[in-house]
Amino acid sequence: MHDFKGQTVIVTGGTRGIGKTIAESFLTSGAKVIATYLTNEAAAAKFKQDNSQFAENLNVQKLDVSKYEEVERFFKYIDSKYGGFEILVNNAGIRKDSVLAMMKESDWHDVMNVNLTGIFYMCKFAVMNMMRKRYGRIINISSVMERYAFEGQANYAASKAGLVALTKALSKEVATRGITVNCVSPGFIATELIQDLPDKLREAYLARIPMKRFGNAEEVAACVLFLASKEASYVTGSVLEVSGGL
Ligand code: NAD
Repeated sequence: MHDFKGQTVIVTGGTRGIGKTIAESFLTSGAKVIATYLTNEAAAAKFKQDNSQFAENLNVQKLDVSKYEEVERFFKYIDSKYGGFEILVNNAGIRKDSVLAMMKESDWHDVMNVNLTGIFYMCKFAVMNMMRKRYGRIINISSVMERYAFEGQANYAASKAGLVALTKALSKEVATRGITVNCVSPGFIATELIQDLPDKLREAYLARIPMKRFGNAEEVAACVLFLASKEASYVTGSVLEVSGGL
Protein backbone atom coordinates (compact mmCIF):
# COMPACT_ATOMS: atom_id res chain seq x y z
CA MET A 1 0.00 0.00 0.00
CA HIS A 2 2.88 2.37 0.87
CA ASP A 3 6.34 2.56 -0.61
CA PHE A 4 9.11 2.99 1.97
CA LYS A 5 12.04 2.39 -0.35
CA GLY A 6 15.03 4.51 0.69
CA GLN A 7 13.68 4.99 4.22
CA THR A 8 15.08 3.55 7.45
CA VAL A 9 12.80 2.45 10.28
CA ILE A 10 13.50 1.57 13.90
CA VAL A 11 10.97 -0.76 15.57
CA THR A 12 11.54 -1.43 19.28
CA GLY A 13 10.51 -4.88 20.47
CA GLY A 14 10.38 -5.67 16.76
CA THR A 15 11.13 -9.39 16.75
CA ARG A 16 7.93 -10.76 18.27
CA GLY A 17 4.22 -10.03 18.75
CA ILE A 18 2.80 -6.86 17.21
CA GLY A 19 6.29 -5.38 16.72
CA LYS A 20 7.35 -8.32 14.56
CA THR A 21 4.37 -7.82 12.23
CA ILE A 22 5.09 -4.07 12.06
CA ALA A 23 8.76 -4.76 11.21
CA GLU A 24 7.79 -7.31 8.54
CA SER A 25 5.23 -4.94 7.01
CA PHE A 26 7.93 -2.27 6.61
CA LEU A 27 10.33 -4.84 5.11
CA THR A 28 7.77 -5.92 2.51
CA SER A 29 7.16 -2.23 1.73
CA GLY A 30 10.82 -1.72 0.85
CA ALA A 31 12.18 -0.08 4.03
CA LYS A 32 15.44 -0.80 5.80
CA VAL A 33 14.47 -2.02 9.27
CA ILE A 34 16.34 -2.04 12.55
CA ALA A 35 14.33 -4.32 14.83
CA THR A 36 15.36 -4.34 18.47
CA TYR A 37 14.89 -7.09 21.06
CA LEU A 38 15.47 -7.20 24.78
CA THR A 39 16.86 -10.59 25.85
CA ASN A 40 15.42 -13.45 23.81
CA GLU A 41 18.37 -14.30 21.52
CA ALA A 42 16.65 -17.42 20.17
CA ALA A 43 13.51 -15.52 19.13
CA ALA A 44 15.66 -12.78 17.56
CA ALA A 45 17.65 -15.39 15.59
CA LYS A 46 14.45 -17.06 14.42
CA PHE A 47 13.02 -13.70 13.34
CA LYS A 48 16.17 -13.04 11.31
CA GLN A 49 16.00 -16.51 9.78
CA ASP A 50 12.29 -16.17 8.91
CA ASN A 51 13.07 -12.91 7.10
CA SER A 52 16.27 -14.02 5.41
CA GLN A 53 14.92 -12.87 2.02
CA PHE A 54 15.24 -9.31 3.39
CA ALA A 55 18.72 -9.89 4.91
CA GLU A 56 20.19 -6.82 3.19
CA ASN A 57 17.51 -4.57 4.66
CA LEU A 58 17.24 -6.09 8.13
CA ASN A 59 19.39 -5.34 11.17
CA VAL A 60 18.49 -6.93 14.53
CA GLN A 61 19.94 -5.17 17.59
CA LYS A 62 19.76 -5.80 21.31
CA LEU A 63 18.39 -2.79 23.20
CA ASP A 64 16.85 -2.10 26.59
CA VAL A 65 14.87 1.12 26.08
CA SER A 66 14.74 1.76 29.83
CA LYS A 67 18.54 2.28 30.05
CA TYR A 68 19.56 5.83 29.11
CA GLU A 69 23.20 5.04 28.22
CA GLU A 70 22.15 2.06 26.12
CA VAL A 71 19.69 4.20 24.16
CA GLU A 72 22.34 6.91 23.66
CA ARG A 73 24.83 4.28 22.38
CA PHE A 74 22.19 2.78 20.10
CA PHE A 75 21.50 6.11 18.38
CA LYS A 76 25.24 6.80 17.96
CA TYR A 77 25.50 3.41 16.25
CA ILE A 78 22.50 4.17 14.00
CA ASP A 79 24.00 7.54 13.12
CA SER A 80 27.38 6.08 12.19
CA LYS A 81 25.93 3.12 10.24
CA TYR A 82 23.01 4.77 8.45
CA GLY A 83 23.59 8.50 8.86
CA GLY A 84 20.11 8.78 10.34
CA PHE A 85 16.67 7.32 9.88
CA GLU A 86 13.19 8.53 9.00
CA ILE A 87 10.79 6.51 11.15
CA LEU A 88 10.71 5.41 14.78
CA VAL A 89 8.07 2.99 16.07
CA ASN A 90 8.08 2.79 19.87
CA ASN A 91 6.39 -0.56 20.24
CA ALA A 92 8.22 -2.08 23.23
CA GLY A 93 5.95 -2.31 26.25
CA ILE A 94 5.27 -4.48 29.27
CA ARG A 95 2.46 -5.25 31.71
CA LYS A 96 2.72 -6.25 35.37
CA ASP A 97 -0.88 -6.39 36.52
CA SER A 98 -2.27 -6.43 40.04
CA VAL A 99 -4.70 -4.37 42.09
CA LEU A 100 -3.04 -1.21 43.28
CA ALA A 101 -3.10 -2.01 47.00
CA MET A 102 -1.18 -5.23 46.33
CA MET A 103 1.10 -3.82 43.62
CA LYS A 104 4.81 -4.20 44.30
CA GLU A 105 6.72 -0.94 44.14
CA SER A 106 9.04 -2.54 41.58
CA ASP A 107 6.07 -3.48 39.34
CA TRP A 108 4.99 0.15 39.28
CA HIS A 109 8.48 1.39 38.38
CA ASP A 110 9.26 -1.40 35.87
CA VAL A 111 6.15 -0.59 33.82
CA MET A 112 6.77 3.16 33.97
CA ASN A 113 10.45 2.72 33.10
CA VAL A 114 9.74 0.76 29.91
CA ASN A 115 6.39 2.15 28.73
CA LEU A 116 6.95 5.83 29.47
CA THR A 117 10.52 6.73 30.47
CA GLY A 118 11.94 4.41 27.78
CA ILE A 119 9.90 6.20 25.13
CA PHE A 120 11.08 9.56 26.46
CA TYR A 121 14.69 8.36 25.97
CA MET A 122 13.98 7.03 22.47
CA CYS A 123 12.13 10.20 21.40
CA LYS A 124 14.79 12.49 22.85
CA PHE A 125 17.59 11.05 20.72
CA ALA A 126 15.36 10.42 17.69
CA VAL A 127 14.14 14.00 17.55
CA MET A 128 17.69 15.39 17.69
CA ASN A 129 18.48 13.32 14.63
CA MET A 130 15.23 14.03 12.76
CA MET A 131 15.54 17.81 13.33
CA ARG A 132 18.79 17.81 11.34
CA LYS A 133 16.95 16.27 8.39
CA ARG A 134 13.79 18.30 8.96
CA TYR A 135 11.80 15.10 8.45
CA GLY A 136 10.57 12.32 10.67
CA ARG A 137 7.71 10.09 11.71
CA ILE A 138 7.35 8.86 15.29
CA ILE A 139 4.62 6.35 16.11
CA ASN A 140 4.09 5.40 19.74
CA ILE A 141 2.11 2.26 20.54
CA SER A 142 -0.26 3.10 23.37
CA SER A 143 -3.36 1.08 24.35
CA VAL A 144 -7.08 1.71 24.70
CA MET A 145 -6.39 1.08 28.39
CA GLU A 146 -5.13 4.70 28.55
CA ARG A 147 -8.84 5.57 28.25
CA TYR A 148 -10.52 2.51 29.81
CA ALA A 149 -8.09 1.79 32.67
CA PHE A 150 -9.34 -1.67 33.69
CA GLU A 151 -8.95 -2.70 37.32
CA GLY A 152 -5.59 -4.36 37.99
CA GLN A 153 -3.81 -2.18 35.43
CA ALA A 154 -3.17 1.12 37.27
CA ASN A 155 0.51 1.10 36.32
CA TYR A 156 -0.07 0.03 32.70
CA ALA A 157 -3.01 2.40 32.12
CA ALA A 158 -1.16 5.34 33.69
CA SER A 159 1.93 4.66 31.59
CA LYS A 160 -0.11 4.51 28.37
CA ALA A 161 -2.09 7.65 29.25
CA GLY A 162 1.22 9.38 29.99
CA LEU A 163 2.45 8.24 26.61
CA VAL A 164 -0.49 9.94 24.88
CA ALA A 165 0.32 13.18 26.74
CA LEU A 166 4.02 12.89 25.81
CA THR A 167 3.00 12.34 22.17
CA LYS A 168 0.78 15.43 22.07
CA ALA A 169 3.35 17.69 23.75
CA LEU A 170 6.21 16.50 21.54
CA SER A 171 4.10 16.79 18.38
CA LYS A 172 3.67 20.51 19.06
CA GLU A 173 7.37 21.05 19.75
CA VAL A 174 8.43 19.63 16.38
CA ALA A 175 5.42 20.52 14.24
CA THR A 176 7.27 23.07 12.11
CA ARG A 177 10.24 20.75 11.48
CA GLY A 178 8.56 18.20 9.21
CA ILE A 179 8.27 15.73 12.07
CA THR A 180 4.97 14.12 13.05
CA VAL A 181 4.35 12.27 16.33
CA ASN A 182 1.28 10.08 16.75
CA CYS A 183 -0.07 7.18 18.78
CA VAL A 184 -1.60 3.95 17.57
CA SER A 185 -3.78 2.63 20.34
CA PRO A 186 -4.71 -1.05 20.02
CA GLY A 187 -7.62 -2.73 21.77
CA PHE A 188 -7.48 -6.51 22.23
CA ILE A 189 -5.09 -7.93 19.68
CA ALA A 190 -4.73 -11.68 19.14
CA THR A 191 -1.13 -12.18 20.18
CA GLU A 192 0.17 -15.04 22.35
CA LEU A 193 -0.90 -12.91 25.28
CA ILE A 194 -4.58 -13.24 24.47
CA GLN A 195 -4.38 -16.85 23.29
CA ASP A 196 -3.52 -17.83 26.88
CA LEU A 197 -6.51 -16.08 28.48
CA PRO A 198 -8.85 -18.28 30.51
CA ASP A 199 -12.06 -19.01 28.49
CA LYS A 200 -14.29 -17.01 30.84
CA LEU A 201 -12.17 -13.86 30.62
CA ARG A 202 -11.83 -14.29 26.86
CA GLU A 203 -15.63 -14.38 26.49
CA ALA A 204 -16.05 -11.39 28.81
CA TYR A 205 -13.59 -9.35 26.70
CA LEU A 206 -15.24 -10.44 23.44
CA ALA A 207 -18.66 -9.41 24.76
CA ARG A 208 -17.35 -5.86 25.31
CA ILE A 209 -16.04 -5.44 21.76
CA PRO A 210 -18.68 -4.10 19.32
CA MET A 211 -17.13 -6.09 16.43
CA LYS A 212 -17.20 -9.27 18.60
CA ARG A 213 -13.70 -10.32 17.62
CA PHE A 214 -10.11 -9.63 18.62
CA GLY A 215 -7.99 -7.64 16.21
CA ASN A 216 -4.85 -8.98 14.61
CA ALA A 217 -1.34 -7.59 14.42
CA GLU A 218 -1.70 -6.90 10.68
CA GLU A 219 -4.55 -4.49 11.44
CA VAL A 220 -2.33 -2.60 13.89
CA ALA A 221 0.58 -2.58 11.44
CA ALA A 222 -1.62 -1.11 8.67
CA CYS A 223 -2.34 1.92 10.89
CA VAL A 224 1.32 2.31 11.82
CA LEU A 225 2.36 2.26 8.15
CA PHE A 226 -0.24 4.89 7.29
CA LEU A 227 1.00 7.26 10.01
CA ALA A 228 4.60 6.56 8.92
CA SER A 229 3.86 7.38 5.29
CA LYS A 230 4.59 10.67 3.55
CA GLU A 231 0.85 10.86 2.81
CA ALA A 232 0.08 11.30 6.54
CA SER A 233 1.90 14.65 6.51
CA TYR A 234 -0.92 16.65 8.17
CA VAL A 235 -1.64 14.15 10.95
CA THR A 236 0.18 14.84 14.19
CA GLY A 237 -0.55 14.63 17.91
CA SER A 238 -3.36 12.19 17.21
CA VAL A 239 -4.38 8.84 18.66
CA LEU A 240 -5.56 6.27 16.13
CA GLU A 241 -7.50 3.52 17.92
CA VAL A 242 -7.52 0.00 16.46
CA SER A 243 -10.06 -1.61 18.74
CA GLY A 244 -13.10 -2.92 16.86
CA GLY A 245 -15.12 0.01 18.20
CA LEU A 246 -14.33 -0.31 21.94
P1 NAD B 1 4.89 -8.61 23.44
O1 NAD B 1 5.13 -8.89 24.90
O2 NAD B 1 4.75 -9.77 22.50
O3 NAD B 1 6.01 -7.62 22.87
C1 NAD B 1 6.60 -6.61 23.62
C2 NAD B 1 7.98 -6.36 23.09
O4 NAD B 1 8.62 -5.37 23.89
C3 NAD B 1 8.88 -7.60 23.15
O5 NAD B 1 9.57 -7.74 21.93
C4 NAD B 1 9.86 -7.29 24.27
O6 NAD B 1 11.12 -7.87 24.12
C5 NAD B 1 9.95 -5.77 24.16
N1 NAD B 1 10.42 -5.18 25.41
C6 NAD B 1 9.96 -5.37 26.66
N2 NAD B 1 10.71 -4.66 27.54
C7 NAD B 1 11.65 -4.00 26.82
C8 NAD B 1 12.71 -3.11 27.14
N3 NAD B 1 12.98 -2.76 28.41
N4 NAD B 1 13.49 -2.63 26.15
C9 NAD B 1 13.26 -2.99 24.87
N5 NAD B 1 12.29 -3.83 24.49
C10 NAD B 1 11.49 -4.33 25.47
O7 NAD B 1 3.59 -7.71 23.41
P2 NAD B 1 2.64 -7.21 22.22
O8 NAD B 1 1.28 -7.69 22.54
O9 NAD B 1 3.21 -7.50 20.90
O10 NAD B 1 2.64 -5.62 22.51
C11 NAD B 1 3.35 -4.66 21.74
C12 NAD B 1 2.90 -3.27 22.15
O11 NAD B 1 1.49 -3.15 21.92
C13 NAD B 1 3.11 -2.97 23.65
O12 NAD B 1 3.50 -1.63 23.81
C14 NAD B 1 1.74 -3.21 24.25
O13 NAD B 1 1.55 -2.48 25.43
C15 NAD B 1 0.85 -2.73 23.12
N6 NAD B 1 -0.50 -3.27 23.14
C16 NAD B 1 -0.75 -4.60 22.97
C17 NAD B 1 -2.06 -5.06 22.99
C18 NAD B 1 -2.42 -6.53 22.78
O14 NAD B 1 -3.60 -6.86 22.84
N7 NAD B 1 -1.47 -7.40 22.49
C19 NAD B 1 -3.11 -4.17 23.21
C20 NAD B 1 -2.81 -2.82 23.40
C21 NAD B 1 -1.51 -2.38 23.35
